[in-house]
Amino acid sequence: MRLEPDAVFEVKHRSLCGRIGRIKTKRGYLETPALFPVIDVKRQLVDVERIRQLGFKAVMTNSYLLLKRGFKVGDIHQFLKFDGIVATDSGAYQMLEFGEINATQEEIIRFQEEIDVDIGVILDTPTGKTNSKEWAKQTVDKTLNNAVESLELRNRDDVLWVGPIQGGEYLDLVEFCAKKVADLPFHIHGLGSPTEFLEGYRYQTILEMILISKKHIPPSRPVHLFGAGHPAILPYFVALGIDLFDSASYALFAKDDRYLTPQKTYRLETLTELPCRCRVCEKHTANELRSMVQKQREKLLAEHNLSVLAEELSRIRLAIYQGTLWDLLQNRMHSHPQIFDAFRWMLRRARYLAKYSPITTPSVSGLFAFGYDRPEVILFRERIRQFVSQLEPKRLVILSSKDQVLILKDDWRFDDKTLIMVLDGQFGLVPLEMLDVYPVYQTASRKTKPDIRKILSIINIQESVLVATVDAELYSALRRKLKNVERLSAT
Ligand SMILES: [Zn+2]
Repeated sequence: MRLEPDAVFEVKHRSLCGRIGRIKTKRGYLETPALFPVIDVKRQLVDVERIRQLGFKAVMTNSYLLLKRGFKVGDIHQFLKFDGIVATDSGAYQMLEFGEINATQEEIIRFQEEIDVDIGVILDTPTGKTNSKEWAKQTVDKTLNNAVESLELRNRDDVLWVGPIQGGEYLDLVEFCAKKVADLPFHIHGLGSPTEFLEGYRYQTILEMILISKKHIPPSRPVHLFGAGHPAILPYFVALGIDLFDSASYALFAKDDRYLTPQKTYRLETLTELPCRCRVCEKHTANELRSMVQKQREKLLAEHNLSVLAEELSRIRLAIYQGTLWDLLQNRMHSHPQIFDAFRWMLRRARYLAKYSPITTPSVSGLFAFGYDRPEVILFRERIRQFVSQLEPKRLVILSSKDQVLILKDDWRFDDKTLIMVLDGQFGLVPLEMLDVYPVYQTASRKTKPDIRKILSIINIQESVLVATVDAELYSALRRKLKNVERLSAT
């Protein structure tokens, strides 16, 4: 099986820049967004079988540690007793932790091919959090050199290779690295070093890193954010176009007695209840967990944490399918002050996000608007503006509700040079014929007074057009701005 870069990823649905897709691997398809639970072969807290039951089709393990600890691996799937997709990472994380590693890129690539991984990664040099731009530049140069060298070293055509992007918080370096790596034949791209920023709650830094890399990565390649596994912030990363995650956090948090929920992480000692009904929480109370020996407690907490991540991935995929990813971001914005700032950061980029949102979506339940513009609203206003300018109407009738159409004279109602628009708290003005279409019909907004400036920006039309309305207040407001206004009688 030969797997060509740019031919293994297929996108099926979108919401904002988030996508549901599938990646072809030699072991079958992987639906994205997906998260690889990281398997620690020395001490795995959650059985691989349980990981499978929770719906994870792919796992990740560290090839460098396997190599250095001298494991007789053979086939990695048999070794892990996991018949799904196995990804490995190189020694990059260890390099970040210990400064250097004791293996060459050639050894690591050869080893990944020998143990038959489905997704492998070259040996990159992580930037991490550093005050030295000079150092950051060196990590980017080393990563790029290895990326080029790896092309010669790979022997197998059926392994998907990840081309990492480094640069840390130096966005010009991230951009430079993304541009260079995206030019090389990799199947997947990996954005490196977010872990330290995550630990410091510096979400905006990571969002900036994603945004700038995504500008240069072809849409035909999935993007992996290395080492990001907190559920509350995952939807934000997905909304900017991250398709893959890996996480050891479920186990690391468990070792530290931390209990994940979709909104926040609790310390077990503070919990009077377990606000979850996974297999673990169904069978145990918080007190019972606390009184267990650590080893047993860790295992159970890890299983709970992983099930929260599994649920979160499902929730994200469902939101993309239903076109409501924005609502999930809104939902999460109060989870943490830095997530609130991340939401505001996204709000400022709503126009950019709107560009990637589809103009229709398979199944939408309810979109809620809270006074600020959500991307779907921005996108739809653009469509209204285009519609109005193409129609070149001679008369524009503004109604405050759609029932008022009944009081219009027939020669206005059916005249193709008369445009009838209805006031809307969220969209400003909506052409009568667009009231039942997505996303107007699906948007529940609070009744607010129409904003005359917003209205006039939508109906940017010729002076010669007669604007008519029954609404007294609107009539006088329009009179102040436009010449050709008529008040219709409501009888
Ligand atoms: Zn639970």
